[in-house]
Amino acid sequence: MTMTETANAMVDLYCRELKLPGLRSTYQATARDAAGPGQSHTACLAQEIEARRQHRLATRLAQACFPALKTFESFDFAALPQLPKVKVLALAEGGFIRDRENIICLGNPGTGKTHMSIALGIAAIQADYRVRFISAVILAQELLQAQQEYRLPRYLKSWQSFDLVILDELGYLGLGPGGPLLFQFCAERYERGSLLITTNLEFARWVEVFGDPTLTAALLDRLTHHAQILLFEGESYRFLESKERSKK
Ligand code: ADP
Ligand code: MG
Repeated sequence: MTMTETANAMVDLYCRELKLPGLRSTYQATARDAAGPGQSHTACLAQEIEARRQHRLATRLAQACFPALKTFESFDFAALPQLPKVKVLALAEGGFIRDRENIICLGNPGTGKTHMSIALGIAAIQADYRVRFISAVILAQELLQAQQEYRLPRYLKSWQSFDLVILDELGYLGLGPGGPLLFQFCAERYERGSLLITTNLEFARWVEVFGDPTLTAALLDRLTHHAQILLFEGESYRFLESKERSKK
């Protein structure tokens, strides 16, 4: 064995011991290409860090359960002249999550609320936060089921690990007995973690979702206390697109 072979064999062993499979597979190639031994070490470690970052990103993206991957690159701000672009892009830096603030996106169907929420969620993951996307109807059903199976407290607790919960499409369908549970969910998150809600319902109609007027008023008071409210005013983007197509 040459010196290099011995050294490589040692690195291989150490990487196994330290459970660094990424470094183990890249070490030899990087060491060969590097100008000097010092550089090969730094390059290998930098690669390992990058590989781990990519792995963490992929895991967190999967955990977030986004229904589609939408980003700000494909978001057309021109379609929503009333939406404050600078403010929205500032939100993408994640300061609101650090401060445990909420965002409420209010507007008609098809105006890009879900698209923008996913884009914000992905930006938050890139800023190293944990994010979970769920539709309001499904969350209400899951809460109800957890309650019926006497595991509601545990279920609620399982959501505490997320820094940002995106609750999509509040109010498109009646939630029935899930309404008060969704109320409890939102109330428990208050000042503990961020909540982003998308809805087509103006605040005056939230009582139709949660049922009880007093509970609803209390929730709105809490939610909007630390909230950015973004209004999506415009025509449905799908509709605008099909109109454009039919012109051609
Ligand atoms: P909402 O959640 O408000 O009902 P969506 O975000 O689901 O609307 O948007 C409907 C479709 O139109 C999606 O495919 C989305 O990507 C697209 N869309 C909506 N608004 C925009 C926009 N401003 N720029 C680019 N695509 C948009
Ligand atoms: Mg939507």
